[in-house]
Amino acid sequence: MQSLWNDKKAQDFQDDQLQLRAYSSRLLGENDQLILHGGGNTSIKVSESDIYGEQRDVLYIKGSGHDLKTIEVDGFTPVDLKYVKKLATLEKLSDSEMITQMKLSMLNPNSPLPSVETILHALIPFKFVDHTHSDAVVTITNTEGSVEKLREIYGDDVLVLDYTMPGFILSKYVYEKTLELDWQKTKAIILLHHGIFTFHDEASVSYQNMIDLVTKAEDYIKEKGCFDVDTSSSFKSDPALLDLAKMRKMAALKMGESCILKFKDDPLSTSFSAKEDVASIATKGPVTPDHVIQTKRIPAILGKNWEEDFANYIKDYQQYFERNQSADLVCLDPSPRFAIWKNTGVVVMAENHRAAKAISNIADHTMKSICWGQSLGGWNTLGEKEIFDLEYWELEQAKLKRIKSVGQLQGKVAVVSGSASGIGLSCTKKLLNEGACVVGFDIDPKIKSCVDSPNYLGICVDLTVTEEIKNALAQCIKNFGGIDILVSNAGIFPKSAPIKDLSDELWEKSVSINLSSHFKLLRETIPYLEHGMSPCVVLMGSKNVPAPGPGAASYSAAKAALTQLARVAALELGEKGIRVNTVHPNAVYDTAIWTDEVLNARAKHYGLTVEEYKKNNVLKSEVTSSGVANLVFQLTTDNFSNTTGAQIPIDGGNDRVI
Ligand code: ZN
Repeated sequence: MQSLWNDKKAQDFQDDQLQLRAYSSRLLGENDQLILHGGGNTSIKVSESDIYGEQRDVLYIKGSGHDLKTIEVDGFTPVDLKYVKKLATLEKLSDSEMITQMKLSMLNPNSPLPSVETILHALIPFKFVDHTHSDAVVTITNTEGSVEKLREIYGDDVLVLDYTMPGFILSKYVYEKTLELDWQKTKAIILLHHGIFTFHDEASVSYQNMIDLVTKAEDYIKEKGCFDVDTSSSFKSDPALLDLAKMRKMAALKMGESCILKFKDDPLSTSFSAKEDVASIATKGPVTPDHVIQTKRIPAILGKNWEEDFANYIKDYQQYFERNQSADLVCLDPSPRFAIWKNTGVVVMAENHRAAKAISNIADHTMKSICWGQSLGGWNTLGEKEIFDLEYWELEQAKLKRIKSVGQLQGKVAVVSGSASGIGLSCTKKLLNEGACVVGFDIDPKIKSCVDSPNYLGICVDLTVTEEIKNALAQCIKNFGGIDILVSNAGIFPKSAPIKDLSDELWEKSVSINLSSHFKLLRETIPYLEHGMSPCVVLMGSKNVPAPGPGAASYSAAKAALTQLARVAALELGEKGIRVNTVHPNAVYDTAIWTDEVLNARAKHYGLTVEEYKKNNVLKSEVTSSGVANLVFQLTTDNFSNTTGAQIPIDGGNDRVI
């Protein structure tokens, strides 16, 4: 393992030890072989004067909800070191009382809640304490004869302790086990099935000890087992896309909310899914119990009859709950968070895209660790009771709640066509803001980069070509698992021409883009919408449908036919619960075609100022693309759950339409 320590950078922080603490914490956090998604924690002990000028010992510990990868000084919570340390001498302390005591010990009430490992950090008599869940170290502890293996690797440099539930019990256990310890001769503490602590009065030494000890564990795996996971049996996977959409719906119904499903067909995922003994090796337990809140204890194993296997996982989870629960617990949702689909790949399911990414990452590390463990004589994790206790530990569940994102459309997937600019782009941004994952389709290559969000995927596609639409939808399904919302918006406004001068070419182009492309996109999307959550379609019509103008025959006729298509679709799709509505915007001037020059010319033509021209409607209000996007968003929500086949103007009121 490579050390990322940079003396020059560290030098900048020499006068500010807290900055140095944050710096070396980030070095640990940057390495996903050490820390994954909020795991691990670090601390520093300093002497500070209080408001009366009196010196006191302060422990700055990582605050809950902060990630070591990005932590800054304000991510550390100062607590009264002496007070916290003394807590370990108590005979008993309940979880809720421990939290109360943690709050009482805080020296800055505006800081985040200190880590649940605070007491343990306080007990270690060194300035810097680093704690990670290193893959290599924890994997070795998850194999048969782990204590002997650790002795062989580290000799007497490391204190090895049995697994104990985190929180007060662990702190108390470490307190008792270290009363007689010669700290000067000890480089680290390894907690079986959990992780490793290093410590020193110099930040660089504590960090370097972590790197050195993890490197030794990696070297051991290289020597005694197989460090480079063999992915030679990987293959190109092509699952039925409708199966993914159905699976997503099954998971969502069990989770009780919409969810994202991600299909993984990378070499590790496919080769792991093809292992003959996958059903036994993948269902022993997580790498470290900490993962359970994100991934559940074990993944689902799906075969050819995947629907039956999925249903069995749900049943098994409920039985696992019954077996281990105590009186006052409520069963969490029983849906798996990832599944090994035999000879196909890996499927991740989560309430939002951020969680899906974390689970995907943890799944990768889990598969690798299992392969390492197998090569060291057999993967062997903690028993289910210990995992259950952590999964249902209120302090872990509280962590999960803090990282949940909000938004009415969380877990929903929307496809927005014609979204590289204008109304389509505004709709994309609005739906993203409301928590949805959005896939943008446009012929303009700008579509790939017009939005910077992990929840966005832009695909360059010619919407007049069915094959291209199919391929784009396949990407959407593999990335997000399904489609709930279709905003069919792509369109062009052809050059104005009276019918007698209208060329075949212009007419056909308008019909092809403004009408036929919508028909094709809708037709190809319907099978996925049928498995969507509260599915709906919004088609972008135009004021020209109810109130056409001269010179725009090809545009108005295509938009009128599109509106009729929407009405038929509403009739056909209603029984599947799919709502189809049309919006008719007018005079949306904040789009690319309406440059200042064009606006000035049009306003002048009518003898109006630009301001008057923009608000030339009954309400004298300006219609904007974000206003249209708001309406589209509202149509996707339950506020319109009883509305289908509707045509809604958004034009500031047009006397010809009214
Ligand atoms: Zn830990």
